[in-house]
Amino acid sequence: MSEAYVVKMPQLSDTMTEGVIVSWEKNLGDKIERGDIVATVETDKAIMDVEVFREGYLSGPLSAVDSTIEVGGAIGFIVATEAEINRSDVAAVPVETETAVSEVETESSDVAPEVTATVAQAEPEGTVSVIKMPQLSDTMTEGIVVEWVKSLGDRIERGTIVAQVETDKAIMDVEVFREGFLSGPIADVDSVIPVGGPIAYLVETEDQVIRDSAVVASASTAASSALEVVSSSSASSDTHQIQPAAGSAIPAARPQGKQATPYARKVAGQTGVNLDSVQGSGPSGVIVAQDVMSSQPSAIANVSAVPEVNVPGNGRPMSAMEKAVSHSMSSSLSMPTFNVTVNAVPSALIKASKKKGVSVTVSIAKACALAMEKHPTMNWCYQPVDKLVERSQVDIGMAVSADGGGLVVPVLRACESNSLDQLNDDWKGLLDRARKRRLSPEEYANPTFMVSNMGMLGVSYFDAIPTPGIAAILAIASAGPDGMPLTITADHRVVNGAEVALYLNTLKGLIEQPDTWMGPTGPAIPEGNWDYDVVVIGGGPGGEDCARDLVAHGLKVAMINDSPYPGGECLWRGCIPSKAWRAAADRIRDRAHDEHLGVEGTTKAKLNWDKLEKTRRHVLETRGDMALKTDKGVKIKVIQGFARFEDDHTVFVDTGGNSDNPHQRAAIGDGSQGEKISFGCAVIATGAPPFVPPIPGAEESLGTGGILTSDTVWGLKSAPKRLGVIGGGAIGMEMAQIFQDFGCKVKLFEGQERILAEVEPEIAKHLTAVLNEDPNLEIHTSVKVKSIKGNPGAMKLVYTGTDDKDHTFSCDYVIMATGKRPVLEPLQLDKTGVAVDKGMIKADTRSRTSVPHIFAVGDVVGGLMLAHTAGQQGRVAAATILGEDMQYNQDKDSGVIFTRPEAAFVGLSVDQAKAKGIDAVEVKMPMSIDAKAMITNEIHGMIKIVADKSTRRIVGVHYLADHADTLIGEGVMMVAGDMTLDQVAEAIHPHPTQTEMFGEMARRLLSRLRRSKRK
Ligand SMILES: Cc1cc2nc3c(=O)[nH]c(=O)nc-3n(C[C@H](O)[C@H](O)[C@H](O)COP(=O)(O)OP(=O)(O)OC[C@H]3O[C@@H](n4cnc5c(N)ncnc54)[C@H](O)[C@@H]3O)c2cc1C
Repeated sequence: MSEAYVVKMPQLSDTMTEGVIVSWEKNLGDKIERGDIVATVETDKAIMDVEVFREGYLSGPLSAVDSTIEVGGAIGFIVATEAEINRSDVAAVPVETETAVSEVETESSDVAPEVTATVAQAEPEGTVSVIKMPQLSDTMTEGIVVEWVKSLGDRIERGTIVAQVETDKAIMDVEVFREGFLSGPIADVDSVIPVGGPIAYLVETEDQVIRDSAVVASASTAASSALEVVSSSSASSDTHQIQPAAGSAIPAARPQGKQATPYARKVAGQTGVNLDSVQGSGPSGVIVAQDVMSSQPSAIANVSAVPEVNVPGNGRPMSAMEKAVSHSMSSSLSMPTFNVTVNAVPSALIKASKKKGVSVTVSIAKACALAMEKHPTMNWCYQPVDKLVERSQVDIGMAVSADGGGLVVPVLRACESNSLDQLNDDWKGLLDRARKRRLSPEEYANPTFMVSNMGMLGVSYFDAIPTPGIAAILAIASAGPDGMPLTITADHRVVNGAEVALYLNTLKGLIEQPDTWMGPTGPAIPEGNWDYDVVVIGGGPGGEDCARDLVAHGLKVAMINDSPYPGGECLWRGCIPSKAWRAAADRIRDRAHDEHLGVEGTTKAKLNWDKLEKTRRHVLETRGDMALKTDKGVKIKVIQGFARFEDDHTVFVDTGGNSDNPHQRAAIGDGSQGEKISFGCAVIATGAPPFVPPIPGAEESLGTGGILTSDTVWGLKSAPKRLGVIGGGAIGMEMAQIFQDFGCKVKLFEGQERILAEVEPEIAKHLTAVLNEDPNLEIHTSVKVKSIKGNPGAMKLVYTGTDDKDHTFSCDYVIMATGKRPVLEPLQLDKTGVAVDKGMIKADTRSRTSVPHIFAVGDVVGGLMLAHTAGQQGRVAAATILGEDMQYNQDKDSGVIFTRPEAAFVGLSVDQAKAKGIDAVEVKMPMSIDAKAMITNEIHGMIKIVADKSTRRIVGVHYLADHADTLIGEGVMMVAGDMTLDQVAEAIHPHPTQTEMFGEMARRLLSRLRRSKRK
C-alpha cells in the first residue's frame, strides 16, 4: 500500500497562521486530477481555493467544514487507489497538526498550545471562535489593545473589525472571519497580549455572552508562563542541547514557502532570527532548531556580550514600538559598518520636484534606485551564514515621524521600475497612514535600502544605523555652503568603501542634474544676454531639423555650417547622391526582368556617366538651394564658417577657410577672420567623416586619389572597370553593387565574419548569398587587407584570404568604406567640459551632453549613423531645449540598405529583444511565395516579424526584399505604435499587394502561440 499524500492547510498569505474550512468541493472517494480544487478555506484576508497537484482519490479523515486548522496541518488525504480510500465520517483534524514536525524533533511544546490552554480554561460556553492577537508583522511578538470597535454582546458578521491593536510598527485592525456574538473575557484597552493570545471570544447565542469585567491574561503573565514552558521543556526534551539566548518566548512567524518545526520557531522567536533567511536541514528542507541556532552565531554572541548596566530608579516598560526599535538597533551591532560622505547641491532637484509636483523625498528615493542600476550591490544584503542575497527590486524604507511621537518607516516599493508619478502617489498614501501609524505589514516589512532625511530638521551632519536585512542606509543632512551631506553607513560584508563612494558620486550626479532622468522641467536656456538663444553647429539633417523646430517656437537661432549650402553629408556626399547612382543601377538591373515578362529588345542597357552625373548634381544643387531658402525664410540665421568653442557659452566662427564648392566641406581657416558669438544653448551636429584605418599604403593612396572615400568618390570622371571595396557596412555594400550593376568587376573585402553588423543576422547572411550570385561581384569575409599601393587606374590590393594565403587584386580604384568617426579636436570641446566617450560625444536619450545646456545629435554621438536618426535626435534636442518631454528610442529606429534586394530593419531582432528581457518570438515568410514577387521575378529574401510572446506587441520587423524601402513604412508604424499581432492580423490589407504578407504572418504567429499555449 502506498503512502497517502497529505492535503495540508496552505499558507495563502504571509500573515496567515490558520484557516477555516469553508466547503469541500470534492467528495470522499472522488477521483482527483492535478490542479483540481478540492476545498475552499477562509484565510485572514479572503476565501480561497485549495488546489491539489497530485492524482489519486480523496480520502478521509477530512477536516470538518468550519473547523480551524493551522497552516501546514492536514485537512485531507489523496490515496493512489480506490481500495485505499478511508471513507470514515468527516472528522475534525486536530488544530495542532504539524505533520513533518513531530517526526523530526521531540520538542513539541510551543507557546501557542500554552496560550490555548489558558483560553480553554476561560473559554465561555458556546464558543465558536477565539479572537486572538494576530501576528501582523514578522517581528511582532505582542500587541497592545488600543480600542474595542465592537461592544460585548454585539452581533459579529464575517469581515467585521472588532478592535484595533498597536503592533511594534503601527496601529492595525483586528478583523474577524466568523459569525457570532462578541463575548468576554475580553482584553482590557491598553493591555499587552502576546501574539496568538486570546483577546475575546465569539459565542453562538446572545445569552451565552459573558459581560462581566473578567479580562484575559496580559502579556506579562503569558510571557512568564511561556518562559516556564521553555525552561521545563529544554530540560526534559531538548535532544540537541540547544541553549537559546533569553528573549521573546513567542514563536517567530512561519517562513514563506518552507516549513519550520514549532521548536525552531520558538528558538527563532527567542533569538530574533527571521526564518525566511534560514536554510532547513530537516526532511524536505524543514527548518529545525539547530538550523536557527547555527544561522546566527555572531548575533547571539554579540547580544549576550553586550554589558547590561543596572541604573538606579524604576524603569517603565518600553512600548511595543520602543522595544522593536531597541531590538533591531541591538541586532545591528552584529554588522561591521563604515561611513562615507559626499556633498551634493540639491537646488536643481528641489526645483525640478516642485515643477513636476512630486515630493523631494520621492525624487531622492527614485535617484537612489537609479544609481543602483550602476551599483546593484547597494541593494543586496548579508544573510547568515556567509551568504549574500542579490536583489533587483529596490524597496526603500524612509523614516517618518508619527503623530504623537516615534518613527515609522514605510517602504516605497519597486522604486527602480515605478514611474516618479506612480511613486509619488504611493508615497502620499503611505505617508498619511504612517503618520497615523495605520500601515499594513506589507507597507513596512523588508526594505532593501533605507533613507533617513534629517536635513529638514536643520541637522548639519549625521549618520544612521542600518539594520540586518539591508546593506546600507543613507543619511541626508541639511544643505550648507558645500552642499548637502549625503552619508551612507554600509555593511562591509556586502559593499566596500570604493563601491559606496562610486554609488554616492552617481547619486550626486542624479541629484544635481535631475533633468537627465526627470525630463525637462522647463526651457533649458539659462538666463543671460546671449547673441542667440541657441547656436546650432552643423547644417546636416541633425542640425537643420533642430534649428527649424527651434525657430518655429520663436527662438533666436544661428546655424553655423562650413559649406555654402545646408544638407550636410546626407545631401552632398551620402544618401541622396548614392541613391541617384542606385536609381541608374536599378534601371539597368530591371532590364533583365523585362525579358522574364516577355518584353524584348530592352536588355542591352548602356550607362551614360556624364548624363547621370548631370542629373545627380542638378538634384543636389536644387535641393541645397531649396533648403537654404527655406532655412532663411523661417528666420534661421545661417552663417557660413567653421565653429569652435571658446568657452561653454561662446563660439568663434572662423570664416577664413570657407570653400565655395557646395560639394565639399570647407577647410578650417587660420582664425584671422571670423566672429565671436555667445549662446544660451548649443547643439553640436557636426557629423562624422569617413575613417581610414592605418593600412600600409592607404595614406599615400588617399593623396594620389587611388583610394576613394565617400567624400571623394563623387569626383570620378567615369565608372571604373575594376574596383576594390574595403568594408562590408551599408556604404561599402551599396557602392559595390552599384558599380557591379554599372558593369564593373568588383571585389569587396570585409574583416569580420559577416557583413552589415546592424542588420538582423539571417537577413545579412541571406543577402551575402544573393549578392554573390551577381556575376561581377565577389564578397570576401574574414579577410585581412595587408597593403594598398599604386596610382589611380592601376591599384594593387594585397589581402590574406580565409585560406591563410596572400592574394593580390588589381583594380582601377579602391573605395575605402571602413566606417565613419567624428573629428572632435577642432571643436575645442575641452573649453566647455563636454565629455567624450570612445571618440564620440556622450549624449543621453534627450540629446544632452554632460554640460546641461550643450546638446549633441546625429553622427557625432555614434550609434546608428543615419540621416533620419540625426533628424530625430535634432528634434529631440529642440524639444528638450524648449522644455518638452521627448526622447530618442533606438529600439524603435529603422534603416534601409539600398542593395538589390534591399535589407531593412525597424526595431529589435529576436536576439536583441531577448537580451532586453523580452520573451521574443519571430515569424518569417519567404518572398518567393508572394504572387507580386513571382510576377516581377523579385523572389529573393524574406520578411520577419518579431513579437513579445506575452503581450503580442510587435517589437521588430526585418526585411530582405525588393521594395523594402516602401514596405518598411508599415513595419515602422507597427513598432512605433506598439501595435499587437492581433491588430495587424485584423487589419484589412489590399489585394494584390505585398502588404498582405504582414496580416498573413501575424495570423500565423497568433495561431502558433495559441497552439503552443495549449500544450
Ligand atoms: C555614401 C553614403 C550613403 C549614405 N546613405 C544613407 C542612407 O541611405 N540613409 C541614411 O539614413 N543615411 C545615409 N547615410 C548617412 C548620412 O549621410 C548621415 O548619417 C547623416 O548625414 C548624418 O547627419 P548629421 O547631421 O549628423 O551630420 P552631417 O550630415 O555630416 O552634417 C554635418 C555638417 O556639419 C558641418 N560641420 C562639421 N564641423 C563643423 C564646424 N565645426 N563648424 C561648422 N560646420 C561644421 C559638416 O561639414 C556638415 O555639413 C549615408 C552616408 C554616406 C557617406
